[in-house]
Amino acid sequence: MATVSLSEEKNLSRPPVEIRQTKLLIDGQWVESASGKTFETLNPATGEVIAEVAEGDQEDVDRAVKAARKALETGPWRTMDARERGKILYRLADLIERNIDELAALETLDNGKPIRDSRNADLPLTIDCYRYYAGWADKLEGKTVPINGPYFCYTRHEPVGVVGQIIPWNFPLLMQAWKWGPALAAGCAIVLKPAEQTPLTALRVAELALEAGVPAGVINVVPGFGPTAGRAIAEHMDIDKVAFTGSTEVGKLIMQAAGRSNLKRVTLELGGKSPNIVFADSDLEAAVEGAFFGLFFNQGQCCCAGSRLFVEKKIYDEFVDRVVSRTRQQVVGDPFDSNTTQGPQVSQEQFDKILAYIQSGRDQGGKLLTGGQRAGERGYFIEPTVFADVRDDMTIAQEEIFGPVMSVIPFKDVDEVIARGNQSLYGLAAAVWTRDIGKAHRLAAELKAGTVWINCYDVFDAAAPFGGFKMSGIGRELGSYALENYLEVKTVTVAL
Ligand code: NAP
Ligand code: MG
Repeated sequence: MATVSLSEEKNLSRPPVEIRQTKLLIDGQWVESASGKTFETLNPATGEVIAEVAEGDQEDVDRAVKAARKALETGPWRTMDARERGKILYRLADLIERNIDELAALETLDNGKPIRDSRNADLPLTIDCYRYYAGWADKLEGKTVPINGPYFCYTRHEPVGVVGQIIPWNFPLLMQAWKWGPALAAGCAIVLKPAEQTPLTALRVAELALEAGVPAGVINVVPGFGPTAGRAIAEHMDIDKVAFTGSTEVGKLIMQAAGRSNLKRVTLELGGKSPNIVFADSDLEAAVEGAFFGLFFNQGQCCCAGSRLFVEKKIYDEFVDRVVSRTRQQVVGDPFDSNTTQGPQVSQEQFDKILAYIQSGRDQGGKLLTGGQRAGERGYFIEPTVFADVRDDMTIAQEEIFGPVMSVIPFKDVDEVIARGNQSLYGLAAAVWTRDIGKAHRLAAELKAGTVWINCYDVFDAAAPFGGFKMSGIGRELGSYALENYLEVKTVTVAL
């Protein structure tokens, strides 16, 4: 069994993290919500309340949009040199870096992820993302176009305008960076709704953004709930573009709302059921580690989790043994303990949902080899769980579990695994483990996924685009591709 360090006596070591911001940020001011309502954000390791946060709704979103529109049309943001925008983004990255320990602790407190992950993965990736887009701010060039006749034709790449951004709780700081980096580089103004479960770091970064010199109104943050504040963003008539990360179910609602309202541009980064395919000719040690990490990283709460682990029959039994013993090394416990490798799930709701999936895996004949229940007596901890002999038609092989539950599925040959790998409504990511370079590239070409990793997993970089085929989303984040989401192309034609 995985180590569980969760005795009642041992108090979870919450460090002294100061919670500096719990209000809405609108037009450069920290304000209460129009209704005066607040909501609680909890520590998932204990279920205890960390803070009361101002609860934004339609009226607050409306004020935020007005502030963003004003900042965009009349503020210094519009006339500022592009290079100056870049400098502000560099300063924001520097400020986040200067406060890295505080932000990592705040992220761990609100989300439950192990401090070693927030400190060594979320924060460095966040800082890198802002730096990457800082460099783009003054490099968004149009084209000159050789049209027929005595004309000079060129394109201008202009900010799309006021953008609404709705983000989830699994990587709060990083999802904010993926959204803010390209939007600010492009010169847009922002209304962000963080997830109800994890609003705290978004507010702190907003505070740092003001300190970095982002003018009032350019960024606005409205914490609140999806069906109220989120919906108000999706339906707003004066938001030009909405970017959403979260469930496919809500992604559909966002698109419908855009269609019902002003046809705002929509990009969606949604769920997945990504095939992670291990061939007998792979480096088995690396593949076991990749299979383990690809599923269990971030308590399994990754949109690109390798949640369908296909293993070639020739090595199936050995591989299953090895991945189970690797899983048993997972250290579940206090997320502030630097030895902990798995913290709690983010919420009671997610916890219940995952346990129900584990039950369905049992009921439908999956072979439970380790884990399978809650860990400890409080907080939302779940034992790292492995099911073997999973069939494609089982619920755990089809639906996104978003938890520490691995499904190992045997396969026989290449053609079969390509077909089965593609048998999903999703198409976010895939991975292939093999020493045969031809086979690796053939799978890379044939798998219907926005990202294919070969002999690695979860390798992210601000420069490499990420996003989904099929019902995993629309559009790409990161890299130069993400900038296109935040730009309109204008054609200018001049008679010579
Ligand atoms: P979710 O409901 O899709 O939440 C994502 C964001 O959308 C949150 O900020 C949420 O607000 C907001 N939202 C919810 N309903 C909305 C609506 N009607 N209009 C506009 N915005 C709305 O996801 P969840 O409920 O937290 O998690 C459910 C499942 O989604 C997970 O189990 C997982 O399968 C998937 N998920 C995927 C990702 C990903 O990275 N692709 C991330 C998180 C979850 P609230 O804060 O009020 O929820
Ligand atoms: Mg929380």
